[in-house]
Amino acid sequence: LFITFEGPEGAGKSTQARRLYERLQAAGYPVILTREPGGTRIGELIRRILVDLRHTEMAPTTETLLFSAARAQLVSELIRPYLATGGIVICDRYADSTFAYQGYGLGRDLDELRAITAVATGGLKPDLTFYLRIDVEVGLQRKRAGRERPEANSGQPVEWNRLDARDLAYHQRVAQGFAELMAQEPERWYALDADQPLDVLAEQIWQAVTPRLAR
Ligand code: C5P
Repeated sequence: LFITFEGPEGAGKSTQARRLYERLQAAGYPVILTREPGGTRIGELIRRILVDLRHTEMAPTTETLLFSAARAQLVSELIRPYLATGGIVICDRYADSTFAYQGYGLGRDLDELRAITAVATGGLKPDLTFYLRIDVEVGLQRKRAGRERPEANSGQPVEWNRLDARDLAYHQRVAQGFAELMAQEPERWYALDADQPLDVLAEQIWQAVTPRLAR
């Protein structure tokens, strides 16, 4: 079972992905939690390049290929092998982010992105994708407020480019992009209002996952 979390900045994806991971683990299921970009030694190095240099002189094609390169490594090193053992993989962002951010956000051609993504993932798609819906401005404020907090997975501080965080129109295109992606594949997506108490959200996610767990 391959589960991904998507959404705009500051929606609380990482928190909910971790809570689901912990609950599955406590219930005795074989499960791993990973994230994009990153999740592997190579992927985390690529993440550093993206964190430091995205929206500088980095060409949009370079950005797209770096996100995809990190994804290719994650799929081949971690996700596919773990799924093959019958385990559950939870991933904080995946290919949908590329369509939303590089496609709808930066205006890259969607067919081109589909081709690149097919190469990077070998066609691997999530079985279930949670979308945490939040007002773009509220999310950016939340993200800024949390910026000084170390990230749970890496111990590295969150330092995504500020110019990016201020570009509201860009983030609004991204959110609109997510909405279109959901409309294209409604059976895979499960959208939740991120503006609810953490426990309520976690329970809604749990209720959506349990019917899909193999006994
Ligand atoms: O919220 P999270 O920590 O996952 O953020 C990762 C960053 O990478 C976000 O700023 C998001 O805008 C960006 N991103 C992106 N394209 C992707 C995946 C993530 O621009 N394909």
